[in-house]
Amino acid sequence: ERPNEPSIFERRESVVRSYCRRLDCVLDTAEGSLVRDITGREYLDFVAGAGSLNYGHNDPDMRAALIAHLEHGGISHSLDMFSSAKGAFLTTFESLVLLPRGMDHRVQFTGPTGANAVEAALKLARKVTGRTNVIAFTNGFHGMSQGALAVTGNRHHRGSPQNPLYGVTRMPYDGYLGDSVDTADLLDRMLHDPSSGLDAPAAILLETVQGEGGLNVASSAWLRRIAELARTSGALLVVDDVQAGCGRTGTFFSFEPFDIVPDLVVLAKSISGYGLPMALLLIRPEYDVWLPGEHNGTFRGNVHAFVTARVALEKFWSTVDFSADVARRSQMLARQLAGVGDLVPGASVKGRGMMCGIDVGSGRRAETVVRRCFAEGLMLETAGSYDQVVKLLPPLTTPDKVLHEGLDILLSVIRAAAS
Ligand code: PMP
Repeated sequence: ERPNEPSIFERRESVVRSYCRRLDCVLDTAEGSLVRDITGREYLDFVAGAGSLNYGHNDPDMRAALIAHLEHGGISHSLDMFSSAKGAFLTTFESLVLLPRGMDHRVQFTGPTGANAVEAALKLARKVTGRTNVIAFTNGFHGMSQGALAVTGNRHHRGSPQNPLYGVTRMPYDGYLGDSVDTADLLDRMLHDPSSGLDAPAAILLETVQGEGGLNVASSAWLRRIAELARTSGALLVVDDVQAGCGRTGTFFSFEPFDIVPDLVVLAKSISGYGLPMALLLIRPEYDVWLPGEHNGTFRGNVHAFVTARVALEKFWSTVDFSADVARRSQMLARQLAGVGDLVPGASVKGRGMMCGIDVGSGRRAETVVRRCFAEGLMLETAGSYDQVVKLLPPLTTPDKVLHEGLDILLSVIRAAAS
């Protein structure tokens, strides 16, 4: 049996796998927005590592930097010690990301996943405030480890109901109760009413666009209100930008257009630029109260990820053009998807920037769309309370022509599924 025959995976891998059930192929090579399987079949990749490949696969400049680092004999693992690669990343991150946005946040490299950085944020907010309760929102998704799961909304993600998920109050996200109810009013009232039973929060944790939750977009007014409520209630405002950050919505951070500056920001997924594991927490300096080693782990700050992450920042964020280009492609996407409601009665387009989805009304229909698109050579995934949203996360660098090709496949599949 050859090592890449599908049967080896079936026999020896745990059934915990999920993507391969839906996107059933053995992947081999990739470039930009294209992936190839071992038979040479090409697919357009609009899953993009669940948002980890905002700059596409195998960017040539990142690859060259990585090869140069390897050939130089660059250190490959250095725990949390200082390294030249870390220094170069931090210098670039400071000059291209933090300082231009007036942010003086410290950077903490956490364990390599988004979930680990979320857990660091929860622990830190609780330590800073001396409070336990964390306010999180319906449909929020923050990861699969137990602490991150506690702030994740969807019961289906939580799996075993016996997991103890303490210390969290879930409040309705913007729009959860329909357009006529401002859920920030509800939070305001509950924070100020002693009979609401709501304990003073250590943190208010949110995504500005809920990725796994179904591409739900919070309005500018709601976000500003929540930021103000965090301030007045003495809670830390934590924005989980794991999926919506690194340019996905058009600006480097998803919260930039709203003039809010969170106390803590969580970044992961695309920060390494190359799909390498890397996650970090940005901390307002006055809240950097960690003792040495208080949130540690063996894999904090992958050196190879530092190398590619620096190139990603320099290549894409050293001018404003990239942001403008993402905005232009986002409009193109929105324009092409606008007519989808006419194809499927009740279907709606959701999201912001290049983080968008089509709510097709049922999980079954969304699943059919994803499977048929795959058969036509387009990889997509689903999101939402019932997995009823077909989600599109093409690399931000996807050429217009490829974006059109992908959307043509998607729209023709939706058209066929509706008829
Ligand atoms: N937060 C958000 C907003 C996410 O979308 C995800 C992953 N989908 C996570 C946290 C968890 O990240 P990871 O899978 O790297 O643990």
